[in-house]
Parts: sequence; structure tokens; C-alpha cells
Amino acid sequence: MQSVEGGCFCGKVRYRAEGTPTNTMVCHCQSCRRVAASPVVAWLTFPTEKFQFTAGSPREFQSSEPVRRTFCGACGTQLTYAHRRHPDAIDVATCSLDDPGAFPPTHHSWLSHDVAWLRFGDGLPSFQQSRTK
Ligand SMILES: [Zn+2]
Ligand SMILES: [Zn+2]
Repeated sequence: MQSVEGGCFCGKVRYRAEGTPTNTMVCHCQSCRRVAASPVVAWLTFPTEKFQFTAGSPREFQSSEPVRRTFCGACGTQLTYAHRRHPDAIDVATCSLDDPGAFPPTHHSWLSHDVAWLRFGDGLPSFQQSRTK
């Protein structure tokens, strides 16, 4: 089975996910932006049971009532996003993978939260909120 590995910038926290991601997208929402201090954050979704941390222990915090995010307590890299309403899925920050280029996104979400100067020209489907809303 295909597996992908990744981790934080300093290397203390590492993870592995198996199988094919069920979703790959770029999020423009305000929470992702502020947590990562970046205009957008790209995410891959895996079944929770296919994902595990293999080295170190990430720190965890709630970015909103139903959402728990993990990050490296030493270097600050954002690693995962888990929503209480979807306990069987975990989002992994695409650019924390060893090979982020292997998983191009299929769409953009939450363009309604964009900073004014942000422009993407990739032609992918874009949604003002979540694709599923
Ligand atoms: Zn780190
Ligand atoms: Zn987001």
C-alpha cells in the first residue's frame, strides 16, 4: 500500500499516512491563515485510522470549538486538523509532507476570507465557503 511521510521543520515530530488521500485542497479561511501566518494552507485528507505519528509528540490546541489542530512545540510547524463532526477523517498540512508536489489540489475553499491582494491563476474550482456548503 502506498504510504507518505512527513513532519515538522525541525524533525522532532514525524508522521506516516497510508493509502490515497480522499481530498486535496487549498484553504483560504481565516483560521488557517492566522494559525499558519500564511495567506492559504493546503490540506490533504486521510482516514484517521490510516494516519499515525511515528516520532515525537505534537502539541495540540482548539482553533475553534469543534476543531483541534496539532503543531510541533519546538519549531511551530502546523501538522494536522481534526473536526469533531468528522472523527473518521484527519487533514494533514500538505506542505509538511516530504513530497508535497505529489498531491496537487483539486479546488480552493473559503475565498470569502481572502486577504485583498491574494490572486491565484491556476483555474481550479473555487468556493466562497466550504465546497460542501
Ligand atoms: Zn519541529
Ligand atoms: Zn481553513
